[in-house]
Amino acid sequence: RGSCASDSSDSVISTGSETDSQLYKVILLGEHGVGKSSLARVFGGVEDGSHDCDEAGNTYDRSIVVDEEEASILLFDVWEQDNSQWIKEQCMKMGDAYIIVYSVTDKSSFEKASELRIQLRRARQSENIPIILVGNKSDLVRSREVSVDEGSACAVVFDCKFIETSASLHHNVQALFEGIVRQIRLRKDSKEE
Ligand code: GDP
Ligand code: MG
Repeated sequence: RGSCASDSSDSVISTGSETDSQLYKVILLGEHGVGKSSLARVFGGVEDGSHDCDEAGNTYDRSIVVDEEEASILLFDVWEQDNSQWIKEQCMKMGDAYIIVYSVTDKSSFEKASELRIQLRRARQSENIPIILVGNKSDLVRSREVSVDEGSACAVVFDCKFIETSASLHHNVQALFEGIVRQIRLRKDSKEE
């Protein structure tokens, strides 16, 4: 009794995923300037004011508790890094979940978001990957070009979740990441049935 070898003695349903650690790779996609890095910094708990790390790609590693269970997120803000096609291809392959960001003040970034959704569907055809469409900069009321209704209608068409955020005001950023964790868990559970 008390041997450390008995740690995993309870019956594991053999789905081949016994190393199913709770580390989720989440990838930020979206046009330049929509607020990907800002959202990532808020998520990573990095204080604002340091925009010097703007060009380089960054990853953020953080654990959050969602529905009383901890989840670790590895957030990749590398989509625009070096403007590299190779990196973009890797991004499309490696994510457990995706955040497609547009700015509510920029209609063309909204159209780009649709393109990215289509690209992603193509890259990961048979998989049912969690995707959240994010309308960022909701604080800029006067320069809004994309309504909440347009955003959520687009999400319905694309069969993904939708949320509006403001990285500047930290509004809904926590909710965004909680939503991702819940979505990933839902898909996992339904796979393991
Ligand atoms: P990225 O190119 O997608 O990484 O976008 P950035 O995070 O670098 O943001 C581009 C610009 O938009 C920066 O000047 C940010 O300060 C600004 N920005 C980002 N998020 C918001 C937001 O929620 N509200 C407002 N007002 N500005 C934002
Ligand atoms: Mg950036």
